[in-house]
Amino acid sequence: MFRRVSRLLLSFVMLMAGAAVGVGATAGAAHADSCYTWNRTLSQGSSGSDVTQLQIRVAGWVTSGERLSYDGQYGARTAAAVKKFQAAYGLGADGVAGPATFSKIYALQDADCTPVHFTYAELNKCNSDWSGGAVSAATAKSNALKTMWKLEAMRHALGDVPLTISSGFRSRACNSAVGGSSTSRHLYGDAADLTGSPSFCRLAQQARTHGFSEILGPGYPDHNDHTHVALDPSPYWSAPNCGF
Ligand SMILES: [Zn+2]
Repeated sequence: MFRRVSRLLLSFVMLMAGAAVGVGATAGAAHADSCYTWNRTLSQGSSGSDVTQLQIRVAGWVTSGERLSYDGQYGARTAAAVKKFQAAYGLGADGVAGPATFSKIYALQDADCTPVHFTYAELNKCNSDWSGGAVSAATAKSNALKTMWKLEAMRHALGDVPLTISSGFRSRACNSAVGGSSTSRHLYGDAADLTGSPSFCRLAQQARTHGFSEILGPGYPDHNDHTHVALDPSPYWSAPNCGF
């Protein structure tokens, strides 16, 4: 009896939830996004998974050498990153993430949550399922997403110049095939090798203020034909021909 009642109740709840979604869709969820939608204004002191989602998107807007934590806690560093993001896109820079900030993010993200100027395919020319690296496929893919948002910030800061990625995630097999280091961040999905323009030094120098803890560029062994950026837990920058 109890089970039957709770099942009925569950059906009712689901029906109402469906109705609510219907109402929302017609009543102007104008900014709703098939990737992710924020439902409240976030500011210093906020915490939760919606803060983490915000941190993923603003982590490229930090000061030189800084790396924002994806910890779901809206502290002073998150507020500063939001402020930089807002200033970069011509919004009122108050460090509070409200409707205008979220609208800008919606405009910048695709349905699969990647930023508009980058795709998962660009970050993975190795295999289609992100398997075989040093971390689970899901972790490799989410690491790549975080890297893409930093690249989106860097691209905008450089004057909206297209960035070319020659290599991103690599399985151990793909990494061996190109002679990559056995501890390469490409195995974790957070590395990207940049080629094309602007110059490799310009890319390496710019990367310093976008949350990349590992930057290898011209003058570093085997890095004269690209600039490598990644999120290594042990920070290391080296691009001797570019002044660091
Ligand atoms: Zn690399």
